Amino acid sequence: MKIQFWGATQTVTGSQHLISVNGSRILLECGLFQGRRRESYERNRNLPFDATTVDALILSHAHIDHSGNIPNLVRSGFRGPIYCTFATRDLCAAMLRDSAHILEENVAYLNKKRARRGEPLLEPIYTRADAIASLKQFVSVGYNRPIPVAPGVTCTFLDAGHILGSAIIFLEIEEQGKRIRLLFTGDLGRRDLPILRDPAPAPEADVLIIESTYGDRLHPSPDSAEARLRDLIVQTCTDGGKVVIPAFAVGRTQEIVYALHRLHLAGQIPDVPIFVDSPLAVDVTEVFRLHPECYDEELQDFIVRDRHPDPFGFDRLRYIRNVEDSKALNDLEGPAVIISASGMCEHGRVLHHLKHTLWSPRNAVLIVSWQAPNTLGRRLVEGHKKVRILGEEVPVRARVEVINGYSAHADQADLLAWARPILHRLRRIFVVHGDPKPASALAGGLEGAGAKWVAVPSEGDTFEID
Ligand SMILES: [Zn+2]
Repeated sequence: MKIQFWGATQTVTGSQHLISVNGSRILLECGLFQGRRRESYERNRNLPFDATTVDALILSHAHIDHSGNIPNLVRSGFRGPIYCTFATRDLCAAMLRDSAHILEENVAYLNKKRARRGEPLLEPIYTRADAIASLKQFVSVGYNRPIPVAPGVTCTFLDAGHILGSAIIFLEIEEQGKRIRLLFTGDLGRRDLPILRDPAPAPEADVLIIESTYGDRLHPSPDSAEARLRDLIVQTCTDGGKVVIPAFAVGRTQEIVYALHRLHLAGQIPDVPIFVDSPLAVDVTEVFRLHPECYDEELQDFIVRDRHPDPFGFDRLRYIRNVEDSKALNDLEGPAVIISASGMCEHGRVLHHLKHTLWSPRNAVLIVSWQAPNTLGRRLVEGHKKVRILGEEVPVRARVEVINGYSAHADQADLLAWARPILHRLRRIFVVHGDPKPASALAGGLEGAGAKWVAVPSEGDTFEID
């Protein structure tokens, strides 16, 4: 067996790991590389392998850095099945189309400049039509249901507890009379997150490919996150202000909505209107409603025992899809809570809401996700007193609060605790999906815990395993 690492090597985007076994080629993930526009365009457009030679794709979860280049893989000639869980498939139906829309806009932006310089125009990496076409190749499988994916290779999805439908991939391989068990974490979640079950324990394996997004850090506990969410809403809304929460449409939005639902039922937040203003979040919440098989026990009890049939809907909450209703929120006098995407304030409707709220000290902005460098979200976290939004300079007088407790990724302690029970059997460990510092910190932690052989692969590295 051979493993080639083509993405998410010493970085957190563009996951693609290619396995060659028994004459078949199986791709784990086909993620989009996300960085500067021009570099991303080149990297994503030119796949590092021939798509027509890939026999099957196995996908751990729907996040775009894992799934986002699938339409391009299909457009480039991949004709095999795409295995994932039911919820991952349904999330991809919404998210790949949204991703195509962003890619089409990015190319339109690059082409405007190229046209001025007389350069040939670029084609989008893929279009919305490509995204829809790729859905025909998906094959959905439930958790804990072994399924043959190639000659001598059986795949089982175990719950990863990271986002709805997320899976740890467990491959049982027979090659020339030898048995190799390969375990790939995808992205590993955390214990006690709302909505989702905890990550499944690691089964014994020979080879482990492990993510390391937070391989060098520890998170604060999620409990304090909910108390701070409540306090900020109470303080801001009592003074008649608005709270704007930039949130990713997948996962974070539903977590916040579910938390607000419970706070509302308990009478712990004032009776103010709450809006989710993001067409993608509306679609994705619909997918959450369709997949109760992914819910943890607490959420199942909330629905069945406490008789709240829709955890993601209550009388003070309104989902907004159309543009006119979204614009109407700009003129709305407080108090109110507005949840809107994108999570890093780089594009989408949240820009309009920030433009209309940041100037007033009555209002508050609540940052609930990690913010990448050079994003508007990061500038707000850093305390800039003026920011540029949609071509306008806006003074920041609103209170900006950051809650870090909402991460959907395991931290260093979680990753080590998850891997520890199987370390003695592992012959090879590959640390991926982390920047160089967290990746090497986790590798060091694993070695310290007794791991025999640990590598942090670079892009294009190939390993033979027998
Ligand atoms: Zn993820």
